[in-house]
Amino acid sequence: MLIGNHLSSSKGYLAMGKMAVSLGANTFAFFTRNPRGGKAKEIDTGDVERFLEFAEEHSFGKLVAHAPYTMNLCAAKEDVRNFSREVIADDLKRMEYTPGNYYNFHPGSHVGQGAEAGIDLIAEVLNEVLTPQQTTIVLLETMAGKGSEIGRNFEGLRRILDMVALQEKMGVCFDTCHVWDGGYDIVNHLDEVLEEFDRVIGLDRLYAVHFNDSMNECGAHKDRHARIGEGCIGLAAMKRVATHPLLAGKPFILETPNDDAGYAREIALVQSW
Ligand code: FE
Ligand code: FE
Ligand code: ZN
Repeated sequence: MLIGNHLSSSKGYLAMGKMAVSLGANTFAFFTRNPRGGKAKEIDTGDVERFLEFAEEHSFGKLVAHAPYTMNLCAAKEDVRNFSREVIADDLKRMEYTPGNYYNFHPGSHVGQGAEAGIDLIAEVLNEVLTPQQTTIVLLETMAGKGSEIGRNFEGLRRILDMVALQEKMGVCFDTCHVWDGGYDIVNHLDEVLEEFDRVIGLDRLYAVHFNDSMNECGAHKDRHARIGEGCIGLAAMKRVATHPLLAGKPFILETPNDDAGYAREIALVQSW
């Protein structure tokens, strides 16, 4: 079982690796830069080298980096779109220091332009920044559908994927809280939801799971994460997700409201399943 949580990248890669191990994790997520900010820290190549060795010694699975929330590839304002294009292009260069991992991002919010226009803009940027040489797989995150978020259903993600030329560099990250909030009943119909994902997108495109309970009911479009077993999805359903054979071997990332001790407990719980 590959399980980890979101870690702070402010102290560097090796520090994240050591933190992950101390929490009992064998993968982790990290923001490529301040989640609410712009400029990224310079990469310390010595630190990255030490981390890569450490990760191999500890048999880490794929890492799931997360783009900053300020990045909106389909913003209505051109300056925000330009900023976002620069961020994703720079992040993809930085990701190559740790080759072969995943880079997850929120597809974007169309802010009144309409979903179709938003999807076109997202695909346009992806076609500009993806390269055949990159070893990183870029993941679209399934979204709760708050406001004008793109990715509230599987069909929206599929339309983006279809418009990207370098298909093999793209995938999806399945966020359990978001999918549930988006209206997919993974409590009573997990098999059917995964079947629908397979039919609309294809399970071969599902690379990672964000493993969160939800504070709200199915279809609420709210996006408020809860600790595992303390939300509306509940412990039994979360366990069915974590142990589902179709999701075996994928990195599961906790984005639950926790301190370090809480994460260590949740990681141990999921491992025990
Ligand atoms: Fe996210
Ligand atoms: Fe998420
Ligand atoms: Zn969320």
